[in-house]
Parts: sequence; C-alpha cells; structure tokens
Amino acid sequence: MSRISIVIPCFNEEDALPVYYHAMCRVMEEMSEEEFELIFVDDGSSDRTLSILKEMNETDQRCRYLSFSRNFGKEAAIYAGLKNAGGDYVATMDVDLQDPPGLLPEMFRILTEEDYDSVATRRSTRAGEPKLRSFLSESFYKFINRISKTEIVNGARDYRLMKRKMVEAVLGMSEYNRFSKGIFEWVGFRTKWLEFQNVGRCAGQTKWSVKKLFTYSLEGITGFSVAPLSLASVVGVVFCMLSFFMILIIIVRTLIWGDPVSGWPSLVCIIFMVSGIQLFCTGIVGEYLSKTYLETKHRPIFILKDSSEEKEGDRHEAASV
Ligand code: UDP
Ligand code: MG
Repeated sequence: MSRISIVIPCFNEEDALPVYYHAMCRVMEEMSEEEFELIFVDDGSSDRTLSILKEMNETDQRCRYLSFSRNFGKEAAIYAGLKNAGGDYVATMDVDLQDPPGLLPEMFRILTEEDYDSVATRRSTRAGEPKLRSFLSESFYKFINRISKTEIVNGARDYRLMKRKMVEAVLGMSEYNRFSKGIFEWVGFRTKWLEFQNVGRCAGQTKWSVKKLFTYSLEGITGFSVAPLSLASVVGVVFCMLSFFMILIIIVRTLIWGDPVSGWPSLVCIIFMVSGIQLFCTGIVGEYLSKTYLETKHRPIFILKDSSEEKEGDRHEAASV
C-alpha cells in the first residue's frame, strides 16, 4: 500500500468543493488499495470554504486543511500543501475539476510501473477559453521559451503526480516569487506528459483576471530568464553604431551643402523615441530589482491562521531559506 497526498488550493470555492469531494471519493474507491490524504489549502477565502473544509475534516479523516491568514496566491498554496504532504506520492490539483481526478489511477500506474518520477498533464486544446486569453497565453509561451533555458510547456497544467524525491527537490526551491510551471521543469527528473481536452469549471468562477495572468507571466519571465536584462546593452550598441553613421553622413552633408537650420520635428521624434527606449530598459531593470528586493527580505511565503493539525509550530510557517 502506498500513501498518496493530494494538494488542492482553494480560494472562494464553496460551490466547487462538494462536487470535487464527490468526484475524488469515486477515484479513491477505485484505488482502494492505496492510502489517501487530501490536503485542502484555503487561500484566505471570504466565503464558506473554510467551514466546509472543517465539516469535511470531521466526517472524513482523509481530508485535512490548512488555512491562510489572507490570500497569498495559488503558488503559495501549492508550496504550503507540498510542505505538509506526507505521502510517498504527491499530486497537485485544482478544485474546480478542470484537472480531471479520473486521470489519477493512470498517473499512479505510470509512476509505479514505468521508469518515471513524475506524471504531468497538459491541455491539448484551449476550447471554451476566451479568444484574447488564449492569444495572450500562446504568445507568452512562445516568448518565454525563446528567452529561457528552462522549457515551459505550452498548455501545461499544475496538475501532476510526483514521487517523494521530486517533491523534496521542489521544496528545496524556497524562493518567494514562485512560478511552479518553471520550478517543476527546473528541478529535472523524468516526466511523462499526459494530454487531455480542456474542460470547463464545474462551479464558481475563475480567479484569474487578464491582469493577474499578466503579473503571473512576468513572474515566469523574471524567474526563469535574465535575457531581458541584456536588452539595454543590445539596444545601446545598436544606437551607438547608428549614431556613428549618422555623424559621418551629417559631416559629409555639411561640407557639401552647408548647414541650414532645419529638421527640429524629426529631432524631437528621435529624442522621444530614444528616451522611451531608455525608460523601457530602466523599467526592465526595475522589475528584476524589485524581485531581488522582495527575495532578500526573506518574508514567509504563507502564514497559517488555522489548520486541521493545529500544531503550534505550524502556525507561522516561514520559508526555509
Ligand atoms: N486559487 C488559489 N488562490 C488564488 C487563485 C486561485 O488557491 O489566489 C485556486 C483556485 O481555488 C483553484 C485553482 O487555484 O483551485 C485554479 O484557479 P482557477 O480555476 O480560478 O484558475 P483557471 O483554471 O481559470 O486558470
Ligand atoms: Mg480552473
């Protein structure tokens, strides 16, 4: 018998929780030879999520919960769950059934019978997703894979089952600015990818606005590539070379035709453009600087307010840096 922990981040999921639990019960029945623990992480929900989790914990010992003092984000919830998971195999899964629990038996079979350390999932289609969101996501994956050495798989979900040694490696990366899709790839290990068709949410609403996704994608870019930092140097060199040729042209032109005062509109345009590029490059440096600043503060990744364990030591969980 193996022990399987499932980490489930929940943020205002009162509608999805009962449906999810029902679906998971069927899977746990199917895999009745294994021992399960469901670690629900309440990410500072303001609805009935926590009280539902408490009820579930009372009626079913397999359901545990951790509750954050405020909304720390899905990445922090995943980290907290992994940290508290005791299983030989650990899965991370969304509560809205967009990560089909029905895949779990197959994922487990692959890890036990084949030579893999982790089974990850990706969506083969983005059907049902707003067009703008799909376009922005596609562009993000193209861009980040061009500039980062860590491959970020297009359409990858955070739904995966890992062996304990991989979980330990992921926990070893206790950075404050977390981007799991990159972290899972960065730690290495042999991963098998399963594909599935996109499914809609079972209940409730998505918690990710386009703005939140944009900030998240910046997290990915700054976390797994330093290429944007060299943009200033590249643009600088190009502009220097350009100005050198322009100086030559102007000298030759002045010698031949004299120096009539004209061309101030073009001068203003050039000043605007160059200062725009300079500010853009400074902004990029600022992005990295702000991440470094937050990282050096060593703030905890999450703070617990309550948990099914209620251990004192668990209360102020800090990142082990
Ligand atoms: N989630 C979370 N904290 C947040 C936002 C989301 O724990 O700040 C959880 C949410 O409850 C769900 C999962 O992360 O279990 C995925 O969120 P969602 O379904 O809203 O994202 P989408 O599938 O639309 O990308
Ligand atoms: Mg979802």
